[in-house]
Amino acid sequence: LVAAMKEVEETYIMVKPDGVQRGLVGEIISRFEKKGFLLKGLKLFQCPKELAEEHYKDLKDKSFFPKLIDYITSGPVVCMAWEGVGVVASARKLIGSTNPLQAEPGTIRGDLAVQTGRNVVHGSDSPENGKREIALWFNEGELCSWVPVQARWLR
Ligand code: ADP
Ligand code: MG
Repeated sequence: LVAAMKEVEETYIMVKPDGVQRGLVGEIISRFEKKGFLLKGLKLFQCPKELAEEHYKDLKDKSFFPKLIDYITSGPVVCMAWEGVGVVASARKLIGSTNPLQAEPGTIRGDLAVQTGRNVVHGSDSPENGKREIALWFNEGELCSWVPVQARWLR
């Protein structure tokens, strides 16, 4: 009942190139599926430099920015749009801290990664950025609005 008072949101989740190349795509998708969120978009995608720069524009003054752009464009990523009540903050919890050595065991980064610059997954940090990033990474025709029968247990 408490959850029902929260709003349905969307978040952009992305398996980064290290996650794809280490064979962690299924494992990472599985965490969000099992939690009970709704998958609205999914694709394997080679990110162009301009898109990576736009996605991470708030970090452009950081010293690690060029390395970050090289990392994100170094191979295909898996782009996902997930929907659900409170999905933005919940996905950030499932993902864990930016530095995988500080991420709690049980989180994706806590279980599967070691380095901040190779932290296997991205998740939007606010509902506004969720919308912004989904619009940035997906064309409208690539997103599905659908209601699985199971949803009545989760919403
Ligand atoms: P998060 O992905 O947890 O939201 P940020 O938005 O702060 O973290 O940073 C975006 C991404 O930039 C991080 O996930 C990580 O891949 C990279 N990054 C952040 N800080 C550093 C750093 N100090 N050195 C190298 N890469 C970094
Ligand atoms: Mg961030």
